[in-house]
This record gives sequence, structure tokens and C-alpha cells, in this order.
Amino acid sequence: MLLGCIADDLTGATDLALMLSREGMRTVQCNGVPMGRLDLEDVDAVVIALKSRSNPASEAVAQSLAAADWLLAHDAKRLFFKYCSTFDSTNEGNIGPVSEALLDRLGENFTLACPAFPAAGRSIYMGNLFVNGVPLAESPMRHHPLNPMRDSDLRRVLARQTQCEIGHVAYADVEAGSAAIRAAFAREAAANRRIAIVDALNDAHLRAIGAAAVDAKLITGGSGVAIGLPAAYLAAGLMTGLTPPPKTISAPAGRQIVLAGSCSTATRGQVAAALAAGFPGLRIDPLEIASGHVNAASVLDWIKAQKPTAIPLIYSSDDPENVVAVQKKLGREAAGHVVEQLLAQVARGLGGLGFSKILVAGGETSGAVVEALGIKVLSIGPEIDPGVPWTLSRAGPQMALALKSGNFGTPDFFLKAWSMLQ
Ligand code: ADP
Repeated sequence: MLLGCIADDLTGATDLALMLSREGMRTVQCNGVPMGRLDLEDVDAVVIALKSRSNPASEAVAQSLAAADWLLAHDAKRLFFKYCSTFDSTNEGNIGPVSEALLDRLGENFTLACPAFPAAGRSIYMGNLFVNGVPLAESPMRHHPLNPMRDSDLRRVLARQTQCEIGHVAYADVEAGSAAIRAAFAREAAANRRIAIVDALNDAHLRAIGAAAVDAKLITGGSGVAIGLPAAYLAAGLMTGLTPPPKTISAPAGRQIVLAGSCSTATRGQVAAALAAGFPGLRIDPLEIASGHVNAASVLDWIKAQKPTAIPLIYSSDDPENVVAVQKKLGREAAGHVVEQLLAQVARGLGGLGFSKILVAGGETSGAVVEALGIKVLSIGPEIDPGVPWTLSRAGPQMALALKSGNFGTPDFFLKAWSMLQ
């Protein structure tokens, strides 16, 4: 294995695995650090999905180092730390502390931080992150239930999380191409700026950054910055060839369902579109779960009552005002936890009801659902929308899963995704 990746949530891992697969690396995704050794003879990249984005920083660091040790023990030549393209984090972490800990583990003194993903509307200019054309702090991310992003300047965001100096590789260097970027990396490293935010406005920038980072032992960023890595590794002689990605996926026979635990704007639009298209929908309210009025058994009973041909939609997605009101009553973490646990328990009951194709919206939500299903290793199938592929379990229950980061996908995502399954 050439590239060992550590992703701070499940949908982010899938997104990165898809990017690497699309660009020609044979990629496997593991949910959690695998127990024991895996045979990786025919694999170019492994992406380990953690659920560390919203954990206390010390736990995120410990989990990330355990993943790094597993990857290094499987001969990873490079490490990649993947986080969200909206830089989801708090003043305590976890992007800064994990990046530093990985640098320390590798004995390295420099890495880049580039969450840009222009295809999904995330770009970085002057160290500031823009989401669909508006500064991060003015985007819907300012209302995120777990990590509201209220500062668009990633240098400041990162500086609050770490002791180390934060550098910057600005647009002019990035536009000038990989040699200029490489020189800028050397300049930042020489100035003892251990982590540098890198501007990027388009895929050409990302490819140039990938080429400049070909020797970097650690890269950090969104999945976007991985776009240039496979070709760069090939050109550098680190790979012998690129492998085209799979075009179709043969899903196991069975029913289809959508579980949405994301309150992101994109997901709320997708829920509204699915309801308007006639999907039978059940909205679950964290307060009703907490009070015991709604539980997994009552949700599964509702699902059983739907027509076998229908695609049930179970959703907790709500608008920012209601989310804040619920969080005031239950606490932010508890509100998230009750929803995640309920959807996880529902997922556990789905196999018994004949469901084998599950679409999950929300990063944390997907992590909870996949853990409950006991699915450890996924192969990457065709891309539904940027950053979201269908995946197939390689062991455990036979399931086709689409794990969607809350912000991703077009409004008709819940309607169109199914047509890609054979
Ligand atoms: P995204 O990918 O959009 O960030 P996540 O699933 O990662 O979605 O995070 C959403 C969080 O919000 C989860 O912890 C989820 O349980 C929680 N949540 C979902 N619905 C509600 C709600 N109605 N009120 C409060 N929190 C909620």
C-alpha cells in the first residue's frame, strides 16, 4: 500500500476513497482501525474511517495515532489526514491537534492544510474558506449542531487549536504551479510554520498542489486535494499504473430506505424533495425520543406499515431555530446522541425487514448506522454526486450503502440515487 488515509468521519472517508478510486488508485475503505492484518497485496490506498470529528481532542489524537500505526505497519509510504471541506472543528480541535500528533509520529516538520473542494463549492482564497460563494462564517455552517463555524479565516481557526505557527501558501504561488508551490512549502517549513493553509480555487490548483506534495509524508485536507495525488505518484514512479474506477454496482436484492440525521441545508432540501415526490416520511423529534415516546420499535412498526414498494424516509432533519431550541433543552451532545442512537437501532432492525439498500444522510449519523450494522470493510462503487458513491459491504451483512455527508448532493439526491444500482 502506498497511501494510508485517516478520515475523521465516515462520509468523509467514503468521499476520499471515491476521489482516489476515480483518479486510478485501487482503494479500500475500513470502518474503524481493523483488528489484525489485512491482505493488501492489490491495494494502492486504504482509507480508515474514524468517528473522531466531534470527540474530545485527546481521544481524536489517540484514535488517529492508532490508525496511523496500523497503516505504517502495513507499509504505508505516505499518510493523509482527511477532514471536512467545511473545516468542521472547534477552538479545542480536532484538526490542529491531530495534524500535529501525526507530524510528531512521522518525525516531520511540515504539512499542508487544504480543505478546498471546488466541485462541491468549497474554495480557499487568502486563507479564507468560501462555501458556495459565501464566507464560511456566513454560510449555513454557522448553524451546524455540533461545530458551528463562525470564522472564515482558516489560519485563525487553526491557530486557536494548536501551539504551532500557522503558515499560508497564497493564490499567487498556487496559480504559478507546482514548482512555486513546492518552493512555498519549503519557505513555510524553513520559517518553522508547521502547518500551512493552501489557497485553491479550482481543480487545476488542486492538481498542482498534489504534484507539489508528492514527497510530503503527511498531507491534510479535504478529499479535493487528493485529486492530483494518483497521477503525481505515478509520475514519480511510486505506482506502476492507474486503474479505472468501477462503473456499476450489483446491489443485493431487497428493499430501499433513507435515514436522514443531518440538519444541513442540502439534506433539508433533499428531505423536502423526497416528501414532495411522495416518499412516505416519518419525522423523529429528539425531545420525543428523550421522553421515550418514540423508540426504535415504534419506528420499525411504522416502517412495517408502509407498502413494500415504497421507499420510507426516516428523518430528524430540522431547521436551525428548532435545533437550537432542542439543544437548549437536552444539551448539544445529548440531542445528537439520542438521534444517532435511535437511527442506529432502527438500522439494526432493517435487515430482518428485508432492506438491503440504505441511503444515510449525515456524517455522524452514517458512522452510527454503519457501526450498528457491523459493516467493517467497503468497496467503492459508482459516484452518485460529487463526494458520494454507492458502496458495497465486503464482509458482514450484504448491503449497498450510500453514505452522504449532510451538505452534499443535489436536491433530487434521494430520488435519483437508486437508478445506479443493478
Ligand atoms: P452533517 O453531515 O450534516 O454534519 P451529522 O450527522 O454529521 O450531519 O450531524 C448532525 C448531528 O445533529 C447529529 O449528531 C444528529 O444526531 C444531530 N441531530 C439530528 N437531528 C437533530 C435535531 N432535530 N435536533 C438536534 N440535533 C439533531
